[in-house]
Amino acid sequence: MKKKNHKYVFIVGGVMSGVGKGIASSSIGKILQSKGFKVNPIKIDPYLNVDAGNMNPTEHGEVFVLNSGLETDQDMGNYERFLEIDLDDGDYMTSGMIYKYIIEKERNLGYHGKCVEAIPHIIQEILRRIKKAADRHKSDISLIEIGGTVGDYQNILFIEAARILKIKHPQDVIFIMVSYLPVPGSLGEMKTRPTQNAIRQLNSYGVQPDIIIARGSQLLDYRRKEKIAMACAIAPENVISAPDIKSIYNVPLNFEKDKIGSIILKTFHLRSKTNGNSLKEWKNFVRKKNCAKKKLRIAIVGKYFDTGDFVLSDAYVSVIEAIKFSSYWSNTSSELIWINSKEYETDPKKISELKKYDGIIVPGGFGENGIEGIIMAIKYARIYKIPYLGLCYGMQLAVIEFARNVVGWGDAHTAEINPKSSHLVIDIMPEQKKLLEEEKYGATMRLGAYPAVLKKGTIAYNSYNVENISERHRHRYEVNPEYIKDIEKNGMIFSGASPSGKLQEIIELPKSIHPFFLGSQFHPEFKARPLHPHPLFTAFIEACLKNK
Ligand code: GLN
Repeated sequence: MKKKNHKYVFIVGGVMSGVGKGIASSSIGKILQSKGFKVNPIKIDPYLNVDAGNMNPTEHGEVFVLNSGLETDQDMGNYERFLEIDLDDGDYMTSGMIYKYIIEKERNLGYHGKCVEAIPHIIQEILRRIKKAADRHKSDISLIEIGGTVGDYQNILFIEAARILKIKHPQDVIFIMVSYLPVPGSLGEMKTRPTQNAIRQLNSYGVQPDIIIARGSQLLDYRRKEKIAMACAIAPENVISAPDIKSIYNVPLNFEKDKIGSIILKTFHLRSKTNGNSLKEWKNFVRKKNCAKKKLRIAIVGKYFDTGDFVLSDAYVSVIEAIKFSSYWSNTSSELIWINSKEYETDPKKISELKKYDGIIVPGGFGENGIEGIIMAIKYARIYKIPYLGLCYGMQLAVIEFARNVVGWGDAHTAEINPKSSHLVIDIMPEQKKLLEEEKYGATMRLGAYPAVLKKGTIAYNSYNVENISERHRHRYEVNPEYIKDIEKNGMIFSGASPSGKLQEIIELPKSIHPFFLGSQFHPEFKARPLHPHPLFTAFIEACLKNK
């Protein structure tokens, strides 16, 4: 059951999108945890998509997969990483999800003949979910991030739900607005007016923010804090300065400079349960990050990389963070070089540039674009003994490369690209084939956490140091069991498989022939955490350092 006097912090955005509400919410959660409170984050995306599964990562960023298999917004990854918790279906909400549920309930006579309306039914459903999530986590404080910006049509019902909760429990609900203060180049001065207007807009919904987080390129001075505080009828101390900083992991420490944790607790009439020094481990991690002595250059070869830096970092955020965590804990900073594999297809000589790098990663992906170039890169890594880590598609393509160039099946392929190949080493499982024929694509993905058993003595086993693991998946195709024996005979090891042995989870080459060549059918990056880096990424980074 939800605790009595359970507290709710709603986080909304002002002025514009993309100012880092997710990082702000995650950081607040981290700070409240450090004060001894159990928190549960909820992300609300106001769009009509039922989940993020069908969204294009180059436009919307990475699709983050939960243990349950729910495909969510990348912010959920930040929550898991900052707060070191596994989130569940109930911790994510979209307008599409709410509407779908209500419409289906209505079709099933769930409203007993009543007229079903946005108010009260949508609001009731939003609040039911928020309370249920708090119950399930048995938390003290819920942090609810309402996506979009104040003034959007799309998020109005969510803000209204929050307002109603506040009316019912005035002592237990607070609002934080993450706003943006521009510094127009011609003026060189930070402007507070857009934020004041955003506050007014929020007021017009009947909501009064308790705390303003003032994002901007610079620190916010006291005079401007006063101005914003005046517009908002709060104390200037409740306006938190949040200037751009190099790393998102510094944000909790930065927020604490303005004492946001104590302000939230004071507003709730709560007292810290710890001595205040409990961000210690986090500080230790941040310090490690800042004083990494060793350097690596890692090539990431893929196909989504031709749209500029901004897109890259969003489409592969969990991979990037996973590399960072393992690097920092090995006192290393890794420079990532994004390589569009299509370049190797048009200019095969270019492939030799790969010798400059200390390691090569091929991340997940779908479709035909650029994959011959990726296969060339994998071959290069295998032959020239450059540490290689393949994630999902990166594993499947490594199997294809091996089947073609070592086993000798020149046309080996995946059914995703060439279903007519005479050696479909990556194929759809028979149960899934039927669904695909009926064009039921959604149901044919293997999504979420699945267990795997590791073979003793392998790189995989030695990295995890345990026999049984559980990792998150997001793919449709699998290694074809028909070909495993022949591939194994030629030297590739299947070092992890599902408990039944049917689904192959990890492939590798023996250390005697390659320093580190490993691919996983799952996405280890989804479970990498700042304070607990992922063992496969750590093993890869260590191999890169050794091989340098
Ligand atoms: N396209 C491959 C599949 O569906 C791999 C997916 C991925 O890399 N996430 O099986």
